[in-house]
Amino acid sequence: MSYQHKDLNLTDPTRGSLHFVMYTELRMGLAFGALNAHVTFHPQQQTPLTREWVDRLERCEPNALHCSLVSAQQEIPALFHPCVEEDKESPSAFAGSGCECRRSFYDLEFGMPVVGEHYRTVSGNIDQWFYRTYAPLDLRPDDVFDRFIVDNGHFWVRTEKGLLSILPQQTALGYGVGYEGGGPHALAAYLSEVAATGGKNTAAGAPYEKADPGILAWTESPHRTTNELTLQDLKALRRG
Ligand SMILES: [Zn+2]
Repeated sequence: MSYQHKDLNLTDPTRGSLHFVMYTELRMGLAFGALNAHVTFHPQQQTPLTREWVDRLERCEPNALHCSLVSAQQEIPALFHPCVEEDKESPSAFAGSGCECRRSFYDLEFGMPVVGEHYRTVSGNIDQWFYRTYAPLDLRPDDVFDRFIVDNGHFWVRTEKGLLSILPQQTALGYGVGYEGGGPHALAAYLSEVAATGGKNTAAGAPYEKADPGILAWTESPHRTTNELTLQDLKALRRG
Protein backbone atom coordinates (compact mmCIF):
# COMPACT_ATOMS: atom_id res chain seq x y z
CA MET A 1 0.00 0.00 0.00
CA SER A 2 1.22 3.51 -0.72
CA TYR A 3 1.14 6.44 1.63
CA GLN A 4 -2.23 8.17 1.37
CA HIS A 5 -3.08 11.76 2.15
CA LYS A 6 -6.66 12.89 2.34
CA ASP A 7 -6.23 15.92 0.09
CA LEU A 8 -3.40 14.89 -2.19
CA ASN A 9 -2.53 12.18 -4.64
CA LEU A 10 1.17 11.87 -3.83
CA THR A 11 2.23 8.73 -5.58
CA ASP A 12 3.55 8.65 -9.10
CA PRO A 13 2.21 5.23 -10.17
CA THR A 14 5.29 4.60 -12.32
CA ARG A 15 7.77 5.24 -9.53
CA GLY A 16 5.86 4.84 -6.30
CA SER A 17 8.51 6.42 -4.11
CA LEU A 18 8.20 10.13 -4.80
CA HIS A 19 5.88 11.04 -1.94
CA PHE A 20 7.17 14.55 -1.52
CA VAL A 21 5.40 17.84 -0.84
CA MET A 22 7.32 21.11 -0.35
CA TYR A 23 5.92 23.79 1.94
CA THR A 24 6.99 27.36 1.15
CA GLU A 25 6.17 30.74 2.57
CA LEU A 26 8.11 33.21 0.48
CA ARG A 27 7.49 36.25 2.66
CA MET A 28 9.06 34.43 5.61
CA GLY A 29 11.81 32.80 3.55
CA LEU A 30 10.53 29.35 4.51
CA ALA A 31 10.90 26.26 2.35
CA PHE A 32 10.82 22.75 3.73
CA GLY A 33 9.25 19.34 3.35
CA ALA A 34 5.63 19.53 4.46
CA LEU A 35 5.07 15.84 5.21
CA ASN A 36 8.40 14.00 5.44
CA ALA A 37 10.27 14.06 8.76
CA HIS A 38 13.81 15.46 8.85
CA VAL A 39 16.59 13.03 9.75
CA THR A 40 20.10 14.14 10.75
CA PHE A 41 23.05 11.81 11.21
CA HIS A 42 25.67 13.38 13.46
CA PRO A 43 29.23 12.09 13.08
CA GLN A 44 29.08 10.57 16.59
CA GLN A 45 25.96 8.59 15.61
CA GLN A 46 27.42 7.04 12.49
CA THR A 47 27.52 3.25 12.67
CA PRO A 48 27.98 0.41 10.15
CA LEU A 49 24.30 0.83 9.22
CA THR A 50 24.73 4.56 8.60
CA ARG A 51 27.80 3.84 6.51
CA GLU A 52 25.87 1.26 4.47
CA TRP A 53 23.36 4.00 3.66
CA VAL A 54 26.01 6.69 3.04
CA ASP A 55 27.87 4.35 0.69
CA ARG A 56 24.92 4.22 -1.70
CA LEU A 57 24.49 8.01 -1.92
CA GLU A 58 25.24 9.52 -5.32
CA ARG A 59 26.69 12.98 -5.56
CA CYS A 60 24.54 15.35 -7.66
CA GLU A 61 23.98 19.00 -8.50
CA PRO A 62 22.11 20.93 -5.77
CA ASN A 63 18.39 21.50 -6.36
CA ALA A 64 15.49 23.07 -4.46
CA LEU A 65 15.15 20.06 -2.16
CA HIS A 66 18.79 20.34 -1.07
CA CYS A 67 18.23 24.05 -0.37
CA SER A 68 15.39 23.04 1.97
CA LEU A 69 17.72 20.74 3.94
CA VAL A 70 20.51 23.14 4.94
CA SER A 71 20.19 24.23 8.56
CA ALA A 72 20.22 27.96 7.71
CA GLN A 73 19.48 29.86 4.50
CA GLN A 74 22.94 31.44 4.59
CA GLU A 75 24.35 27.97 3.95
CA ILE A 76 22.65 27.62 0.56
CA PRO A 77 25.59 29.14 -1.42
CA ALA A 78 27.93 26.57 0.15
CA LEU A 79 25.99 23.84 -1.71
CA PHE A 80 27.54 25.28 -4.87
CA HIS A 81 31.10 25.61 -3.54
CA PRO A 82 33.78 22.96 -4.02
CA CYS A 83 35.30 21.25 -0.99
CA VAL A 84 38.76 22.32 0.15
CA GLU A 85 39.88 18.86 -0.99
CA GLU A 86 38.92 19.91 -4.53
CA ASP A 87 39.89 23.60 -4.44
CA LYS A 88 41.93 25.26 -1.69
CA GLU A 89 40.56 28.64 -2.85
CA SER A 90 36.93 27.57 -2.42
CA PRO A 91 34.73 30.21 -0.71
CA SER A 92 33.85 27.48 1.83
CA ALA A 93 37.52 26.80 2.64
CA PHE A 94 39.53 28.67 5.23
CA ALA A 95 43.29 28.95 5.78
CA GLY A 96 43.91 26.61 2.86
CA SER A 97 42.92 23.41 4.67
CA GLY A 98 39.81 24.11 6.84
CA CYS A 99 36.39 23.58 5.26
CA GLU A 100 32.69 24.19 5.88
CA CYS A 101 31.34 23.14 2.49
CA ARG A 102 27.96 21.54 1.82
CA ARG A 103 27.59 18.68 -0.64
CA SER A 104 24.46 17.46 -2.47
CA PHE A 105 23.58 13.80 -2.85
CA TYR A 106 20.57 11.68 -3.55
CA ASP A 107 19.72 8.24 -2.23
CA LEU A 108 20.06 5.91 -5.18
CA GLU A 109 17.22 3.67 -3.96
CA PHE A 110 14.54 6.11 -2.73
CA GLY A 111 15.54 9.22 -4.70
CA MET A 112 15.56 11.30 -1.52
CA PRO A 113 17.77 14.41 -1.36
CA VAL A 114 20.69 14.35 1.10
CA VAL A 115 22.96 17.20 2.17
CA GLY A 116 26.43 16.50 3.59
CA GLU A 117 27.83 19.14 5.93
CA HIS A 118 31.62 19.12 6.06
CA TYR A 119 33.51 20.38 9.07
CA ARG A 120 37.28 20.23 8.81
CA THR A 121 39.60 22.19 11.08
CA VAL A 122 42.74 23.79 9.64
CA SER A 123 44.95 21.22 11.34
CA GLY A 124 42.69 18.39 10.15
CA ASN A 125 42.40 16.94 13.67
CA ILE A 126 38.63 17.16 13.18
CA ASP A 127 37.40 16.18 9.73
CA GLN A 128 33.80 15.01 9.74
CA TRP A 129 30.53 14.99 7.83
CA PHE A 130 26.96 15.42 9.05
CA TYR A 131 24.17 14.15 6.80
CA ARG A 132 20.66 15.62 6.59
CA THR A 133 17.79 14.09 4.66
CA TYR A 134 14.07 13.39 4.75
CA ALA A 135 12.56 10.08 5.85
CA PRO A 136 10.41 8.43 3.17
CA LEU A 137 6.67 8.31 3.83
CA ASP A 138 6.44 4.67 2.81
CA LEU A 139 8.48 1.82 1.44
CA ARG A 140 8.25 1.40 -2.32
CA PRO A 141 5.36 -0.70 -3.68
CA ASP A 142 7.49 -3.81 -4.28
CA ASP A 143 9.45 -3.61 -1.01
CA VAL A 144 8.53 -6.25 1.57
CA PHE A 145 9.04 -5.40 5.26
CA ASP A 146 11.39 -7.87 6.95
CA ARG A 147 12.66 -6.26 10.15
CA PHE A 148 12.73 -3.07 12.17
CA ILE A 149 16.07 -1.93 13.62
CA VAL A 150 16.96 0.59 16.35
CA ASP A 151 20.52 1.80 15.83
CA ASN A 152 22.13 4.46 18.00
CA GLY A 153 19.11 6.75 18.03
CA HIS A 154 18.05 6.03 14.45
CA PHE A 155 15.26 3.82 13.13
CA TRP A 156 15.55 1.64 10.06
CA VAL A 157 13.73 -1.03 8.08
CA ARG A 158 15.45 -3.92 6.32
CA THR A 159 13.41 -5.33 3.44
CA GLU A 160 13.22 -8.99 2.45
CA LYS A 161 15.71 -8.26 -0.33
CA GLY A 162 18.15 -6.85 2.24
CA LEU A 163 17.67 -3.21 1.33
CA LEU A 164 18.09 -0.74 4.17
CA SER A 165 15.59 2.14 4.43
CA ILE A 166 15.19 4.91 6.93
CA LEU A 167 11.95 4.05 8.77
CA PRO A 168 9.05 5.84 7.05
CA GLN A 169 8.18 8.82 9.20
CA GLN A 170 5.87 11.79 8.94
CA THR A 171 6.90 15.19 10.25
CA ALA A 172 5.59 16.00 13.76
CA LEU A 173 5.47 12.28 14.57
CA GLY A 174 9.02 11.89 15.88
CA TYR A 175 10.05 8.43 17.06
CA GLY A 176 11.78 7.44 20.27
CA VAL A 177 12.41 4.45 22.54
CA GLY A 178 13.06 3.82 26.21
CA TYR A 179 10.74 6.32 27.92
CA GLU A 180 7.05 7.15 28.26
CA GLY A 181 6.18 9.90 25.79
CA GLY A 182 5.12 10.91 22.31
CA GLY A 183 8.16 9.41 20.52
CA PRO A 184 7.67 5.81 21.70
CA HIS A 185 3.91 6.19 21.18
CA ALA A 186 4.31 7.33 17.55
CA LEU A 187 6.78 4.50 16.92
CA ALA A 188 4.49 1.92 18.55
CA ALA A 189 1.55 3.14 16.44
CA TYR A 190 3.60 2.76 13.26
CA LEU A 191 4.91 -0.73 14.18
CA SER A 192 1.43 -1.83 15.32
CA GLU A 193 -0.01 -0.94 11.93
CA VAL A 194 2.80 -2.88 10.21
CA ALA A 195 2.13 -5.93 12.44
CA ALA A 196 -1.67 -5.71 12.11
CA THR A 197 -1.47 -5.74 8.32
CA GLY A 198 1.18 -8.50 8.11
CA GLY A 199 3.68 -5.98 6.79
CA LYS A 200 1.43 -4.77 3.98
CA ASN A 201 0.92 -1.25 5.34
CA THR A 202 4.30 0.40 5.87
CA ALA A 203 3.09 3.98 5.41
CA ALA A 204 4.03 6.64 7.96
CA GLY A 205 1.45 8.59 9.93
CA ALA A 206 -0.39 5.92 11.96
CA PRO A 207 -2.41 7.76 14.64
CA TYR A 208 -1.43 7.25 18.29
CA GLU A 209 -4.59 5.25 19.04
CA LYS A 210 -3.32 2.51 16.71
CA ALA A 211 -0.55 1.68 19.19
CA ASP A 212 -0.94 -1.88 20.46
CA PRO A 213 -0.35 -2.11 24.25
CA GLY A 214 2.23 -4.91 23.84
CA ILE A 215 4.23 -3.04 21.20
CA LEU A 216 3.94 0.19 23.19
CA ALA A 217 5.34 -1.59 26.26
CA TRP A 218 8.36 -2.60 24.12
CA THR A 219 9.01 0.89 22.69
CA GLU A 220 8.64 2.50 26.14
CA SER A 221 10.83 -0.02 27.94
CA PRO A 222 14.29 1.21 28.99
CA HIS A 223 15.36 -2.45 29.24
CA ARG A 224 15.12 -3.74 25.65
CA THR A 225 17.06 -6.94 25.13
CA THR A 226 17.20 -6.56 21.36
CA ASN A 227 17.42 -3.74 18.86
CA GLU A 228 15.87 -5.71 16.00
CA LEU A 229 12.31 -6.96 15.59
CA THR A 230 11.19 -9.12 12.68
CA LEU A 231 7.62 -9.04 11.45
CA GLN A 232 7.06 -12.27 13.43
CA ASP A 233 8.49 -10.65 16.57
CA LEU A 234 6.17 -7.68 16.15
CA LYS A 235 3.15 -9.95 15.74
CA ALA A 236 4.19 -11.90 18.85
CA LEU A 237 4.44 -8.69 20.91
CA ARG A 238 0.85 -7.71 20.17
CA ARG A 239 -1.69 -7.88 22.99
CA GLY A 240 -4.57 -6.10 21.23
ZN1 LIG B 1 34.60 20.37 2.37
